[in-house]
Amino acid sequence: MKIGFPNHPRKDLLKEIEWIGKNGFDFVDLFLEEDRATPERIDIGKLKQVLRKYGLETVGHTAWYLPIGSPMKALRKAAVQELKRYFPVFNSIGTEYVTIHANWPGMIFSDREGVKFQAETLKELVELAGGFGLKLLYEPIDSVRDSLENVSMILKRVPGLYFHLDIGHANLYGRKPEEFIRRFRSKLKHVHLHDNHGNFDAHLPMGCGSIEWEKVLKVLKKYYNGTITLEVFSREKKYVLLTRKKLKELWKKL
Ligand SMILES: [Zn+2]
Repeated sequence: MKIGFPNHPRKDLLKEIEWIGKNGFDFVDLFLEEDRATPERIDIGKLKQVLRKYGLETVGHTAWYLPIGSPMKALRKAAVQELKRYFPVFNSIGTEYVTIHANWPGMIFSDREGVKFQAETLKELVELAGGFGLKLLYEPIDSVRDSLENVSMILKRVPGLYFHLDIGHANLYGRKPEEFIRRFRSKLKHVHLHDNHGNFDAHLPMGCGSIEWEKVLKVLKKYYNGTITLEVFSREKKYVLLTRKKLKELWKKL
């Protein structure tokens, strides 16, 4: 198991990575997003240098608000055009997997239509990413529509698309993270870890919400031994390091 942490896309990218490296993480979950981590604002040479300095690997992450499931075709196309600028950056630093987030149209459109819009865009993106040597991960988000059934339909319709489990998102609306692990284990290639109380996407440190960690990690460890990003968004970083300590202890014990 490898443990990583993301850069904050609105802060200085190199400084963010310095913190991640100094604190001994295995990889950076590289959030390439507005407004300070966009292709125009990144110095690839310096980025490579700081990654090498700390022996950090990368998992790619794109903006969660890309309109890949918009009912407007022009907006879906614009999302593809935008990602065309980001894929070469990931390629140049040797990233293998890149996350794309679920995106649902307004409730006037059915779940089935939402699946269709997203699947259409994702098929195009999987092909485009392949040209840059990248594989795409689908991360279900914090909406009621990111259910087992809907996620399953998307993954079935888009061959070559992999599954990104966000444990916090899979704990909302009475959902159970273990069920997502069991159902999509053959496509599972990356994990985001954070806690909540099941009512909203709070991104809390592990053990501060209602997730039954022992239960979830036991199932995860059975099928998975890859990258886990601590998506703990606390102002004080000591809670991130505490989450890592707890995760390592629990993982060993299971
Ligand atoms: Zn996430």
